[in-house]
Amino acid sequence: MFEKILIANRGEIALRVQRACRELGIKSIVIYSEADKDAKYVKLADEAVCIGPANLAQSYLNIPAIIAAAEITNAQAIHPGYGFLSENAEFAKRVEGSGFVFIGPRSNAIATMGDKVKAKEAMIKAGVPVVPGSEGELPLSIAAVTKIAAKIGYPVIIKAVAGGGGRGMRVVHKEEDLESALEITRSEAQAGFGNPAVYMEKFLTKPRHIEIQILADEYGNVIHLGERDCSMQRRHQKIIEEAPAPGITEKMRKEIGAACVKACKQIQYRGAGTFEFLYEDDQFFFIEMNTRIQVEHTITEMITGVDIVKEQLYIASGEKLRYKQSDIKITGHAIQCRINAEDPFTFVPSPGKIVLCHFAGGIGVRVDSHVYSGYTVPPYYDSMIGKLISYADNRTHAINKMKGALLETSFSGIKTNIPLHLDLMNDKGFCIGEQSIHYLENYLKNK
Ligand code: ADP
Repeated sequence: MFEKILIANRGEIALRVQRACRELGIKSIVIYSEADKDAKYVKLADEAVCIGPANLAQSYLNIPAIIAAAEITNAQAIHPGYGFLSENAEFAKRVEGSGFVFIGPRSNAIATMGDKVKAKEAMIKAGVPVVPGSEGELPLSIAAVTKIAAKIGYPVIIKAVAGGGGRGMRVVHKEEDLESALEITRSEAQAGFGNPAVYMEKFLTKPRHIEIQILADEYGNVIHLGERDCSMQRRHQKIIEEAPAPGITEKMRKEIGAACVKACKQIQYRGAGTFEFLYEDDQFFFIEMNTRIQVEHTITEMITGVDIVKEQLYIASGEKLRYKQSDIKITGHAIQCRINAEDPFTFVPSPGKIVLCHFAGGIGVRVDSHVYSGYTVPPYYDSMIGKLISYADNRTHAINKMKGALLETSFSGIKTNIPLHLDLMNDKGFCIGEQSIHYLENYLKNK
């Protein structure tokens, strides 16, 4: 096992990785921008290196500065967290090229899965069901694209090949709108991801978002840890996640889990990863793979008892997977609410000083958050300030427990989306598990 690693991230995930390090007796080094100097994990780290100003390009996305920080502190490995450089194949390559272990997959696996067209091709080859759509990226000729769209059938969705984070997508309901939608998505893809290529899929009208967590070691051993339902989204951003997914039977879990395991073996995947699917009419359709730890990994940890970050560290250090598929038992139900510093109904970000902050506690309540009373939420980064997780023996109890935990949690000085989460925990449709990826947006529209 490593003696010392560098955490190339910020916020709650930096703290989360640090906690796993402490448990394994690994010293953690954190990097931070000037805007994050008062963060809890910076104060708690064995070593902390300021790598630049608040600006992302000069700090958390600054590859030479991160590698230099690892060099001067004698780190053996780098954990990328999520977001930032976590799915940047070039970063993974440079980390390994500089003699450090990248705590994640090999760079070629990141590159394949980061290209959504290549990822879909790899899944088709492995026998994983995918959303019907264009074969590869769309041609430039509008006549040719019109034909493809007609064959798929409207509505269709145009998506950036290099897209991510819910951006670079556009739904088209009729042929007249196709040309302008294509143009806009292409230019947004160029501006946002440096690659104008787009592809097309059938737009599913009432799917749920269901994803499978996997773990794979260096030696071809792969297991899955069941599924999560992340359908409660606004603008393609997940807000509430739960595991297991309502209505998914043991048989379905086994089948889709086995398909994901097979795909991992085929692409020689290593580390933690997630296969994301849209689920409609009892069918799974692959949309993409995330080659990193995810924000919602916590709920899988609660229902399986497997500490996914700890396993990432074991895998990266070259150990054989410590679990067999038959060791994985799913028990109870877990829900996660992402707590954001924002107005709960207008969604306007609300950074600033947290005058007072009090989190819930009790059996089956988990808080993953780096904030504290007196902490100032910087305006430069994501508005998520923590995650509240409830775990109970069944879904109803987990919902009730979450209601209590939300009521116990309080913030002053900034606004948070806790009132929205409370409303949703009391919403009849959510309580009976009726959610689809459009549920939350419709709910907000009707409110
Ligand atoms: P990203 O990498 O930006 O997260 P995804 O491909 O994972 O992009 O899609 C994000 C979200 O967009 C999905 O969770 C879903 O809500 C919506 N979406 C993507 N593809 C489709 C589709 N074919 N039909 C309906 N909704 C879709």
